[in-house]
Amino acid sequence: MNGFDAVAFRRQFPALTEDNIYLDSAATALKPQVMIDASSDCYRAAGTVHRSQHSQARKLTAAYEHTRQQVAELLNAQSAAQIVWTRGTTESINLVAHSWLSPQLQAGDEILVCEMEHHANLIPWLMIAAEKGARVVKWPVTAEGLPRNDLLPSLLSGKTRLLAVTQMSNVTGALPVLSEIIATAHAAGVKVLVDGAQGIVHQPADVTALKADFYAFSGHKLYGPTGVGVLYASAECLAEMKPWIGGGKMVDQVSFDGFTAMAPPHGLEAGTPNIAGVCAFGATLDFLSTVDHRAAARWSESLATDAEQQLAQLPGFRSFRQHNAPLLAFSFDGIHPSDMVTLLAEQKIAIRAGQHCAQPLMKALAIQGCLRASFAPYNNRQDVDAFVRAVRMAHDLLSE
Ligand code: PMP
Repeated sequence: MNGFDAVAFRRQFPALTEDNIYLDSAATALKPQVMIDASSDCYRAAGTVHRSQHSQARKLTAAYEHTRQQVAELLNAQSAAQIVWTRGTTESINLVAHSWLSPQLQAGDEILVCEMEHHANLIPWLMIAAEKGARVVKWPVTAEGLPRNDLLPSLLSGKTRLLAVTQMSNVTGALPVLSEIIATAHAAGVKVLVDGAQGIVHQPADVTALKADFYAFSGHKLYGPTGVGVLYASAECLAEMKPWIGGGKMVDQVSFDGFTAMAPPHGLEAGTPNIAGVCAFGATLDFLSTVDHRAAARWSESLATDAEQQLAQLPGFRSFRQHNAPLLAFSFDGIHPSDMVTLLAEQKIAIRAGQHCAQPLMKALAIQGCLRASFAPYNNRQDVDAFVRAVRMAHDLLSE
């Protein structure tokens, strides 16, 4: 793979039409035709996985488990058994909270959480802390939304049981330096959960090199189906995880006296899973393996830079973008983000306004909310131009 063919890539996404500009990929990415086809192929086949012996079901089981292997390779996990299927990042984080942290959490313990986190990487910790009499401690960010690395060693106390941090902010695109953060946490004997929901699109983490204890992401942000998520756990942490959801297919022996769960990952995956979703995600990963990931990311970043530079010429523009991110979070003095987003929607430009499920970060940035245009490799210069034109028109109207 060498370079990135933006035109060929764009052609794979049937949702893209001439008069519809999609700049909301950080909420969910559009889907390539191969993923849509693989999903309907799956629903055309009859059967479930891990239960039936007939040939269709065996084929589905093989495809389902093959996708687990593909994800293990994507993250450079040592074994496919370290990949647990969930419904998304949110469920992956809740799974860690209930299955790994809760059984060992004592009153007075601390969970250290970065201030820039998406609510999905804050609320599960608040819930479990409230249940156990533990405390969620804030790892503050700067006024620009970057983690205060200088504070980290002193925040990792003898009571800290886990550090939760994102790979990439869904607002600013900030990229905490995970290798340093994880090394610092480990030196203090603290395990680390990385929220990879946005970061995986930027650059899949090498969980082995990083020594991440947990890594969570959602298939739908990586051009896959909704309802498919991943939790990677290190072998040590995986062995400590207790079943959270009970039901069929996670059990070895069960009687009215109790049960013994299967080894992970299956012991953590009760019930009939999202078979079509997982298989279609496998097809998505096959498709992505033909794309130069870094070159594609650079293309999205260059589009965001282009948009940012053009918008910076408008009065009152403020950008919250960090590190050349493909996300452009911005605002205009005196203009309410929801007024702007409504006018853009009328011109068929899809971006997002609000607090982006990151209320503590909004507070740290000292804003009520902002707009976010998120660029993906299927976007092009025409999208940027249409977006900038529409913002300019809305800006003129709203500044009157
Ligand atoms: N973390 C981050 C950084 C996100 O951007 C999102 C999705 N907006 C999530 C977690 C939650 O992902 P999901 O809704 O797919 O569970």
